[in-house]
This record gives sequence, C-alpha cells and structure tokens, in this order.
Amino acid sequence: MANRKYIVGNWKMNGLHAQLTDIADIAAIAANQKGADVGICPPVTLIAAAAEANPDFAIGAQDCHSSESGAHTGCLSTAMLKEAGASYSILGHSERRADQQESDADVKAKAESVHAAGLGAIICVGETEEERDAGQAIDIVTVQLARSFPAGASADWLTIAYEPVWAIGTGRVPETSDVAEMHAAIRAKLAELMGQGSDAVRILYGGSMNGNNAEELLAVPNVDGGLVGGASLTAAKFGPIIEAAAT
Ligand code: PEP
Repeated sequence: MANRKYIVGNWKMNGLHAQLTDIADIAAIAANQKGADVGICPPVTLIAAAAEANPDFAIGAQDCHSSESGAHTGCLSTAMLKEAGASYSILGHSERRADQQESDADVKAKAESVHAAGLGAIICVGETEEERDAGQAIDIVTVQLARSFPAGASADWLTIAYEPVWAIGTGRVPETSDVAEMHAAIRAKLAELMGQGSDAVRILYGGSMNGNNAEELLAVPNVDGGLVGGASLTAAKFGPIIEAAAT
C-alpha cells in the first residue's frame, strides 16, 4: 500500500517576521487538503511565532545539536527546538554536510537525539554530480544512509529525503527512471537496516521540485513526498505542489 504523501518546505536562511503571513497562507492550503501531510521548516527565529500562529500546522527545524546542553556557542538543542514549537527537524542536508562538514556520524547522533526528545527526523542523503557521472550514485547514497541511520528507527518518527546535490536549487531534475532506481535502492537498504516496518518509512524526493514537475515526480514508485526549497517560500508556488500530493 502506498504511503500517505508528505510535503515539507525547507526555507533555509530565508524569512523575516513579515513572511509569517506566507506560512499562514500555506497552513491554510494544507488544512484544506486532507490528502497529504505538510510542513514548513523556517529559520529558527520564526519557529516560535509560526508555531503559535498555526497550532495545527507542522513546523520543523532545519538542524539541531546532538547534545542536550553545554558549551556549543550558537547551537540549539532538541529541547530548545521543541519548546519553541518544532515537532521535527531536517538533518544532514547537503548544504550542512558541505558548509559545516557534517559527517554521517554527526547526522546519526543528531537523529538519535531528536528521537529522544520526542521529535521527528528527516535525514537527507544524496550524491554529487561527479559521483553520479562516475556511476557511483547508488553506492554513495546507500552507504550514506547506512552510516547516518539512527538506532531504534521507526516510520512514526523517521523520514528519508533523497536529494541529489546537483539538483538542489539548480532547476535540474533527474530522469524519473533515475529517481525510481534510487528510491527503490533506498527502500531495499531500509529493509536491510530495520526489517519489519521499513515499507512505512517515507522517502521524499528533493531537488528543484516545483508546481510543474511535482505531479510526475510524486507518481514515481517509492516517492512518498517532497522536500522543497525555493518553491516552498510562497503559497502561490507551494500550493500546487501540496495539491499534486493530496490528489
Ligand atoms: C532543498 O534544499 O532541500 C531543496 C530541495 O531545494 P530546492 O527545492 O530549491 O532545489
């Protein structure tokens, strides 16, 4: 049986208080589309206000620290994010893996910490263009997944996002046959890593998803939703993706 679709917007380092109206507009569209789960991960500075203004809408974080507290200047713990109103966090986004040198072990520790705090986790994996050109995409992604994989994983709190690095923010999207091949490989690796219950773990596609290509991408086997950057910033752009997922 197909999993219920899940569409998450990653606002990255975009959004001031003025953009809370966009979150409210997106939450209103989501509330009217009962066929899919929808959430937005705004910058941390907007989490509390967004969660307070939209109590029935899933607000998430874009990262967290794996420690409960301590001398980690500039970092945020899962308890802080939860108190602010986040119910889940994106982890291991390729921009953090590249810019902050996050390792698979870091991502695994963060996911375990997120789970211990009672939050959900979206773990991102994906290959670079050079790795795909070298025919290594599936090996790279499945090894990344295995090494980032948290103990005690289950579908009620864990989601995987496949995001080819070269497709993020570029307007380039893989062939649907390549998406299908990768999502099937991730599904098989999940079965190996967790056995029973692995079919229910949702695997999102991310990388230049928009209102024009969402329907086609979301119809690919084992694509259980989307992680969306640029096209999640306004209701006008995100709404058609939510509608494609919900119908
Ligand atoms: C992302 O950064 O997670 C992403 C998918 O970005 P975009 O949709 O802009 O490619």
